[in-house]
Amino acid sequence: MNILVTGGAGFIGSALCRHLVADPENRVINLDKLTYAGNPASLRQIENLPNYRFIQGDICNEEAVACILRAEKIDRIMHLAAETHVDRSIDGPGSFIETNILGTFRLLQAALKFWRSLPEAAAERFRFHHVSTDEVFGDLPFDAGAFDEDTPYAPSSPYSASKAGSDHLVRAWHHTFGLPVVITNCSNNYGPFHFPEKLVPLIILNALEEKPLPVYGTGANVRDWLYVDDHARALELVAAKGATGESYNIGGSSERTNLGVVETICDILDRKSPRRNLKSYRDLIAFVDDRPGHDRRYAMDTAKIERELGWRPRESFETGLARTIDWYLDNGWWWQPIRERSYRGERLGKSVAA
Ligand code: NAD
Repeated sequence: MNILVTGGAGFIGSALCRHLVADPENRVINLDKLTYAGNPASLRQIENLPNYRFIQGDICNEEAVACILRAEKIDRIMHLAAETHVDRSIDGPGSFIETNILGTFRLLQAALKFWRSLPEAAAERFRFHHVSTDEVFGDLPFDAGAFDEDTPYAPSSPYSASKAGSDHLVRAWHHTFGLPVVITNCSNNYGPFHFPEKLVPLIILNALEEKPLPVYGTGANVRDWLYVDDHARALELVAAKGATGESYNIGGSSERTNLGVVETICDILDRKSPRRNLKSYRDLIAFVDDRPGHDRRYAMDTAKIERELGWRPRESFETGLARTIDWYLDNGWWWQPIRERSYRGERLGKSVAA
């Protein structure tokens, strides 16, 4: 199986590449523009494997994508490339529209032309898997149920609106042109190699440096958390066995308030890492002005993927978080250069929600 992963130098994409290359039957081609969020260091352990190849490039370049599809005889596209940080989408939405909407459009066009050119057996095998987020469903009241696959879209932020737009395009290319697609919408991920502007790594690393731990508003916003390797397994399963034209919700069934996440990180660190000037890392928690348009809650009903494909997360939030903290404690070589760039003025770390 020749698999094109877009955005494979990012947080989830790199976890997916590491997971896919473990099967020698897979050849993984990683197409990534290497924006601020893409980091080749996340792929160090697989970069020399014979069934892995990295190509630096932009999904907005339809001709370049078309060349890769032909040259590498791609059977499956797993599309993760995106601008992903909600706070950045509020400060500057342009790149979100370009990559998430226009980039997905260009990729779909290249994929459609390529798919139409394939002989019957290869066309039968071909699959376009679009990776998306629970945020497309919008603001969920605290006392409501969870999002299922039929929940109407109601995105609140420029990020979630751009992802919703890309989901609609992918569905339209299936309904109108017959492109064999599958879509997944997943809740908040956490785990190793997570860029330290997102909540979990930001809190771990600020705590280790005894810096304030910023929490938006009162910290009451609720997210559902999934360990990134559980997401990678779900993606492989859906890409291989999901029904064409369908979407699948993926989540950890681990709803936590943002404040609860920060407090749990502090409690684990209190046990693992000596403090210099504090009784507890919790003493560093600092409430800051809320994000505009901040959705109260996201929660995923994952009955469909469990019933149809037999997927369930392996990590609980507490075990996954402890593994993640251990990884950050042991892997300063990965995150220290990123933190140092931020001290030199690159934007990082104002934000507190994923
Ligand atoms: P990330 O920001 O860590 O990585 C995105 C990657 O895409 C980077 O390597 C970047 O260089 C690359 N990229 C950006 N623009 C590109 C372009 N024009 N052409 C080629 N590459 C480009 O993101 P992530 O957190 O790994 O998320 C991956 C995907 O999963 C996204 O589509 C996101 O919407 C979705 N998702 C993320 C989460 C989460 O919690 N992180 C949850 C659900 C869904």
